[in-house]
Amino acid sequence: MNRLLTLGLLTGILIAVAGYSQQSNPPLPPQPKSRTVDYFRASHGYGDGLTEVVDLSQREGFQAVKTLDDLAEFASKVQGAVGFTAHPNFERGTRHAHAVLWYTKLSSTRSSWALHLFDKQEAQKPPGHAPKAAALAAAEAKVSGKMDAAEKLIAAGGKNGVKLEGSFSECEVLALAVLRLGGSFEHQGKFTTGACVGCRTVAPGGTPSACGIGVQKKTHWNCCGSTNEGGYCNFWKLLASQRADK
Ligand SMILES: [Zn+2]
Ligand SMILES: [Zn+2]
Repeated sequence: MNRLLTLGLLTGILIAVAGYSQQSNPPLPPQPKSRTVDYFRASHGYGDGLTEVVDLSQREGFQAVKTLDDLAEFASKVQGAVGFTAHPNFERGTRHAHAVLWYTKLSSTRSSWALHLFDKQEAQKPPGHAPKAAALAAAEAKVSGKMDAAEKLIAAGGKNGVKLEGSFSECEVLALAVLRLGGSFEHQGKFTTGACVGCRTVAPGGTPSACGIGVQKKTHWNCCGSTNEGGYCNFWKLLASQRADK
């Protein structure tokens, strides 16, 4: 090939390439936002005790919260929050997250969703470590604040025992107040044969998916595992003593 022609061709190609690359230079990828709030994965969970949390999904601005870094910043705006917790798949779209205000039990990490705390030293505490005095005081205030309500529930339940309604955490606080007053509870489940899921947390001998008493084919209350058709529900009493042993 003629040398001049080759040179001319090459130059043409070079100019074309230069022009092309200048035009199509992709914009720089957005820089990841730097973490504005420090947080630390706790060596303990917050299960098996009383807690105070705030549902972050109910707060304005939650739509824009996508990552754990975002969540830390969002949760830090909740007054009194010491950290936050989220569904394990939060960053992949399962949008459940709570700011954590206090908890009375440093549980095993298996007893709750992962806990992230703003205070590094708190985060390093192992399961079983004593809770903060302020958390115990807040829990005590919560239970003693329900004594009047508990008294009314005991009176209203009469011979049948107290019937509790509401969220688990609301019922739990009321139940502790009722137990303090020596009250009894009405069964919340059914008297049934077969392995249920309900009583397996408080009745011994169960498997992860079925209760121990049902596996033995004994007819029982699927709330607390009691095999006595009459009588009261032991669920809250059993739960409280189980937690005290942990
Ligand atoms: Zn059962
Ligand atoms: Zn029961």
